[in-house]
Amino acid sequence: MPVDELEIQAAVAHSSGEPFVTEKLHLRAPAANEIRVKIIATSVCHTDLMTKDEALCEFPIVLGHEGAGVVHALGDSVTEFDIGDHVVLSYDYCGQCRQCKDHKPSYCNDHGSLNFAGIRPNGDKTHRRPVSETADVFGSFFQQSSFATYALSHVSNTIKVDKSLPLPMLAPLGCGVQTGAGTVLNTLQVKSDTSIVVFGCGCVGLSAIMAAKVADAKNIVAVDVNPARLQMALDLGASHALAPADFAEAASLVEHVKSISQGSGCQYAIDTTGVPSVLRQAFDCCGPLGVTAMIAPGVPGTEVCIEMLGLLPGKSLRGVIQGDSVSKIFIPELIDLWQRGQFPFEKMLTRYASIDKIEDAAQAMGRGEIIKPIVIIDPEFE
Ligand SMILES: [Zn+2]
Ligand SMILES: [Zn+2]
Repeated sequence: MPVDELEIQAAVAHSSGEPFVTEKLHLRAPAANEIRVKIIATSVCHTDLMTKDEALCEFPIVLGHEGAGVVHALGDSVTEFDIGDHVVLSYDYCGQCRQCKDHKPSYCNDHGSLNFAGIRPNGDKTHRRPVSETADVFGSFFQQSSFATYALSHVSNTIKVDKSLPLPMLAPLGCGVQTGAGTVLNTLQVKSDTSIVVFGCGCVGLSAIMAAKVADAKNIVAVDVNPARLQMALDLGASHALAPADFAEAASLVEHVKSISQGSGCQYAIDTTGVPSVLRQAFDCCGPLGVTAMIAPGVPGTEVCIEMLGLLPGKSLRGVIQGDSVSKIFIPELIDLWQRGQFPFEKMLTRYASIDKIEDAAQAMGRGEIIKPIVIIDPEFE
């Protein structure tokens, strides 16, 4: 039986300067390889806000890429899922290129087009305004566009989770949480008895700190300008919490981090801020053979200056997308750690009651008042 298009509610972004507006739209029927998911909750990620604020997308568009929900309809060729399955949505990848075949799908050749272009891989748009005959609203953000009551995903970026789990709180696993934790456990593969410094204690940085604790790092140094976040970092496993304002200059903060790590410097550093001078500090905190992971690249065109001599002692700087996570493998591992009490990521979450609250959640997040908003899209669930 053919599946029809569906009337939905979506929080639409119209331009970089305007708030999200909840509107009635029509969502196309799932294509053969698509899954229609009834969104139960979505979290908001800084990538949603940066994409809108810096106009890194076409408008109007339905953003959102940390959706959690229930399978509602299946395209003709989808056999891996059943209607009613509980799922978490993540980033998409092609599955065919060299990096995908090498189990590094976050570096897929099509990462940009599949996740940021606002269209299906074949170029179609998925949403239309009720007055329009043709699809005139961009969607397919991370092949989901979860700021809506329903979304279309692919088998590749849809992760089945157990129905006994609290589905709404799992939403941020699909991007922010797996990015931070994956950087520690997959990319850096942090070893026990080592030192790591994390600049920026938002969702990604705090997830990295929790993972560093799981990895049994000896010194886990958190750096942030916000005292509440530093306290949260300590609660989640940081051994030291540093505020830049307590140091006369950046160099003295770097020296202090080095003194914590036995003087020679950290084995690992992570910058989640996207600020070039902070990335430089993170790099300088590392000792010989130290690896610095850059997670937030700043706006396109941003450059960082590294002294070549500083790079010489075997040090490296690498960019990281999605914590090198293969979501279908890593998200269940994170859920397992959470169930064993070793990864209490629920402490970072703040609930918002309905889709109309996405703008409030985004603003509170932008002001640094909350760490990770979970917006409940279906209040009837549970
Ligand atoms: Zn690929
Ligand atoms: Zn994200």
